[in-house]
Amino acid sequence: MALADERALVLFSGGQDSATCLAWALKTFAHVETAGFDYGQRHRVELDVRLQFIAALLGAIPEASAKLGADHRLDLSLVTQLGETAMTADRAIEMGANGLPTTFVPGRNLLFFTAAAALAYRRGIRHLVGGMCETDYSGYPDCRDDTLKALQAALSLGLDSRVTIHTPLMWLDKAATWGLAHDLGGEALVCLIRDKTHTCYLGDRSHEHDWGYGCGTCPACDLRAKGWTKWRAG
Ligand code: ZN
Repeated sequence: MALADERALVLFSGGQDSATCLAWALKTFAHVETAGFDYGQRHRVELDVRLQFIAALLGAIPEASAKLGADHRLDLSLVTQLGETAMTADRAIEMGANGLPTTFVPGRNLLFFTAAAALAYRRGIRHLVGGMCETDYSGYPDCRDDTLKALQAALSLGLDSRVTIHTPLMWLDKAATWGLAHDLGGEALVCLIRDKTHTCYLGDRSHEHDWGYGCGTCPACDLRAKGWTKWRAG
C-alpha cells in the first residue's frame, strides 16, 4: 500500500527534530497519531510544549486537522530507576569516561520504540516515525541508523507484524532540518518550530534568540543555534 494510504505513529517529544518529523508525517501519511514519553526528565517543559505545538500546527499545516489523530502520553518513569543521567537528575552535562555525554540515557530509544511499536500494534499502525539523526548528533548509539534498522527487524519479528521505522532526518544536518521544515510548511512552519518547540537541556524558556528559546550555552542550544545560523546564511 502507498504511504499516502497508511497510518503512522510519530514519536513526538516536543523538540525541533520530532516536530519536523510530525510535519513530514502529516504530508506523507493518511492518518497520524503522536506518542510522548514521560521518563522522569528533569525539565518538564518539553512535555508542556508538546500540546501547544500540536494545537498551533492545526493552524499552520492545512492537512493537520483532517489527518491528526490521538496523542498518547506514555509513562516510562522506570528509566529513572535504571540510573541517573544529566537528563533525569541534577548532574553536570559533560563528556563521560565512556566517550558519551552524560545526557545519554542508556536504552532510551530502545524502550521508546518498543513501547511505541506495541501501542501501534494495538491501533493497527505499521509505521513509526522518529527524529533520530546520525549526521549532526551527540554520539548517542541508539540514534544510529544501524541500531534502528536492527530494532525494526526485531520488532517486526517479535510482533509477527511488519513494523517500518522512518527517520527522515537521519542524514540531514541541523541546517538541512530547518530547510526541510521550510519545504514542508514554509515560513509559517519554521516560525512555529522556532517558537513552540523546546530543545534546551537546561529547560530554559526565558531567553529568546533568533533560533528560539533556550539557555544558549548547553550542547543542545549550541547545535540548534549553529544549524539555524548556517541555514539562514545559506
Ligand atoms: Zn540550553
